[in-house]
Amino acid sequence: MSVRVRFAPSPTGPLHMGGVRTALYNYLFARKHNGQFLLRIEDTDQKRYVPGAEEYIMDSLRWCGIQWDEGPDKDGGYGPYRQSERKDIYRKYAEQLIDAGHAYYAFDTPEELEAMRKRLEADKSGNPQYDPTTRMTMKNSLTLPEAEVKARLSSGEPFVIRIKTPEHEEVVLQDEIRGEVRVDSNLLDDKVLFKSDGMPTYHLANVVDDCLMEITHVIRGEEWLPSAPLHVLLYRFLGWEEKMPRFAHLPLLLKPDGHGKLSKRDGDRLGFPVFPLEWKYPESGNISMGYRESGYYPEAFVNILALLGWNPGTDQEVFTMDELVDQFSLERVGKSGARFDPEKARWFNHLYLQKQPLEVVADQFEAELKHQGHHPAREKVEKITDMLRERVNFAHELWEQASFFFEPPTIYDEKFAKKKWKADTPDILLTLREQLKNTEPFSLDAIENSLQEFMETKGIGAGKIMPGLRLALVGAGRGPDVKEIMVVLGKDEVLRRIQRAVENIPVG
Ligand code: GLU
Repeated sequence: MSVRVRFAPSPTGPLHMGGVRTALYNYLFARKHNGQFLLRIEDTDQKRYVPGAEEYIMDSLRWCGIQWDEGPDKDGGYGPYRQSERKDIYRKYAEQLIDAGHAYYAFDTPEELEAMRKRLEADKSGNPQYDPTTRMTMKNSLTLPEAEVKARLSSGEPFVIRIKTPEHEEVVLQDEIRGEVRVDSNLLDDKVLFKSDGMPTYHLANVVDDCLMEITHVIRGEEWLPSAPLHVLLYRFLGWEEKMPRFAHLPLLLKPDGHGKLSKRDGDRLGFPVFPLEWKYPESGNISMGYRESGYYPEAFVNILALLGWNPGTDQEVFTMDELVDQFSLERVGKSGARFDPEKARWFNHLYLQKQPLEVVADQFEAELKHQGHHPAREKVEKITDMLRERVNFAHELWEQASFFFEPPTIYDEKFAKKKWKADTPDILLTLREQLKNTEPFSLDAIENSLQEFMETKGIGAGKIMPGLRLALVGAGRGPDVKEIMVVLGKDEVLRRIQRAVENIPVG
């Protein structure tokens, strides 16, 4: 049987990076096994529906290069792939469960449910929930006469359909990551499967769709593990036991300090994105940052996610998507939470920035230069990009590193000047300036020779020249090789900057 997996997000807001990781692992698993990867939109909860969230989810997956084989925009014969468009399918299964005695109608009002909760809390008699111990005290088709149930239904009274959880039974499931999971059915409650608005709840829709879409493996976040026993019961009660997919519950993503689940607030608090793309909250207008807008390359983001929960069992850390497909396996996904390290994420982007073709980074830099009002020759842009890319994690950091190429220093780093701009520095630099005037062509070799000759004939060491020269050209003690800087600046500009520095920097 060929592998079919699905990513089944609910469009209730932006997709958290944990969600993207779930999609990625499903995708890798499908590709690895030459199977199908489906995107199914679970939008049955109309109250939580957020406009724009579905497009956001799709855009995020596309940006990451996680392509689905079947989905709302790509029919593979198992559609529709949006649950709101499958409404008519679910009721039949809810009724089938009722007919088989595995589910029942319940008519309790919100006030009655609240009263039950209060009563049970006061009694301290176990979980205050609708379950085998409490359902016979409530208003449902198990307690009301059949005629009354019929009358209530035909009068259009609001109802829900609840599963009839079996008592004193151990529900067992095999999880590909956690091994055998056993849950005492007495701990489960009679979850709502269907509501009188004609919509199924997540549990029923999810199980029915997984079965009808012939899903072979359910790979999803650990937060769904508590729901899995209920899903196992539903497979059994619907007579689909042999069609039940295998389960794999992925470990949680943890905060950078390792304590607790990584939440969207952590990102805002600690200054890193938790969403793939920027998201604007429709109500407040607030914006949460995205990896894309923060300057991450999608390949770096995917690489980071791949290693949050999975490890290759080797020292390899940098993976292309093809390598991930080749090496991914559920056996190498861990049980314990995966701590997110924002520093390491930045480092990954640094690595990917070094691997990008020069033109790509130069394009990014050129755009920033334009934004800053500079329009240098392309050759110069590429040269500077090449010189500085090693020093940055993100292309947008290039401007900060490179601005001195385009804007002569107006202030000079005081601390550095105090240490390196000595009483004899101005004279040395002015003499050197005279020599540089005659350095022709103004190439790296010629400059190197010229400096060498200067040091030898004057008997001055590099330590007495280069820091001051750097300060004059850059305005600070940082930056790439001084000679390379000189080549890019060109002779006239170098001469101008030396002159200006001598006139403006007080002797330390
Ligand atoms: N709709 C659920 C979610 O939002 C899907 C969970 C599952 O994969 O079963 O994550």
